[in-house]
Amino acid sequence: MERDQNIMPKFNYLRPAVDAAKQMRTPFYFYDMELLRKTLETIKQLTADRRFKVHYAIKANGNPQIISEIAKYGIGADLVSGGEINAAAKAGFAPANMNFSGVGKTDWEIRTGLEYGIGCFNVESVPELEVINEIAGEMEKTARIAIRVNPDIDAHTHHYVTTGTADNKFGINIDILDQVIEQTLNLPHLHLSGLHFHIGSQITDMQPYSMLCETVNRLIDEYEQRGIHFEIINVGGGLGIDYHHPDEHPLPELETYFNIFKENLHLRPYQELHFELGRAIVASCGSLISRVVYVKENRNKQFVILDAGMNDLIRPALYNAYHEVQNITSREQKTEKYDVVGPVCESSDVFVHDHVMPLTRRGDLVAIRSAGAYCESMASTYNMRPIPPSFYHFGI
Ligand SMILES: *Cc1c(COP(=O)(O)O)cnc(C)c1O
Repeated sequence: MERDQNIMPKFNYLRPAVDAAKQMRTPFYFYDMELLRKTLETIKQLTADRRFKVHYAIKANGNPQIISEIAKYGIGADLVSGGEINAAAKAGFAPANMNFSGVGKTDWEIRTGLEYGIGCFNVESVPELEVINEIAGEMEKTARIAIRVNPDIDAHTHHYVTTGTADNKFGINIDILDQVIEQTLNLPHLHLSGLHFHIGSQITDMQPYSMLCETVNRLIDEYEQRGIHFEIINVGGGLGIDYHHPDEHPLPELETYFNIFKENLHLRPYQELHFELGRAIVASCGSLISRVVYVKENRNKQFVILDAGMNDLIRPALYNAYHEVQNITSREQKTEKYDVVGPVCESSDVFVHDHVMPLTRRGDLVAIRSAGAYCESMASTYNMRPIPPSFYHFGI
């Protein structure tokens, strides 16, 4: 069913994806490794002379090729499971640069972290503190921990990706922080390294980050007066990307983001500032490349049915998220309005509603853009569909 496989000139940078589609079955994840490198290089430059340390949140994309590339840039890893700790070690991340977050760390996961000697456990509850202390004691080790504080800041993002308000499951309520710090200091197998925050994801308004800086400044001052010095301040991740204009804005607002912390956070000379970016590092470099199976009309709607579905890219179905969908091979001048959908037997298997695209036919190639974060890592085999393969483009 391949039609004219000549790419639209305006999508020339996706030519390698069109070429790859001649050899491999669709759908597949296409990764622009040049863009990934450019993003990493920018981060490296912006954090070079400062006590800023970036950790990559592997849950955004744990593809082994992607994470080994990231590890080469001296970036640390932010992990949320034992499986991720093993994957990070295999990809070449130094254990000292690994942070382990998550509300439900199990005993074997804690043991795995201690065996590797990871840099920090970001602890989210008092029972977790006690369990880590106990396991570390059994293993005759000391666990370095940071307390994840829930600062009660609304990141103005989708409620499924807001994590820093008082009524969600993450972190320790700021009101009981005193008490929790005291308990930590009394547990013999724990070393209190610092404080951890993570207020949400896909944050594009910088104001919540300024508010976070104020909260952090206040806490550093208060505890310093009482003789408690935090070596690490970890402000989490969440920096968003422009899903609507992937071609105009391939890089996130990294400079603005780092400057907010540089200008507003009063870091002490003995402190390190940690960041945990996931989406901002990998989202833009990925596209899901899919072929149009059918175009059908129902009443007054036209549907473009792809061979990719919600099991390959679940964000629209899960969070109502927008991804730019582009027909990259149609040469038609005329445009139409389409609902672009997948083949999975669920009504939520829709990528985009009422989307204007050039006249689309069976066999055309469609790119679902900004699919580098939370797409491959969230893929499932629902409907017994195979997980799509990946194609890596390394420039010319
Ligand atoms: C998911 C997560 C991140 C990364 O979030 P992004 O929005 O992808 O930057 C960072 N820290 C923690 C604790 C997380 O759970």
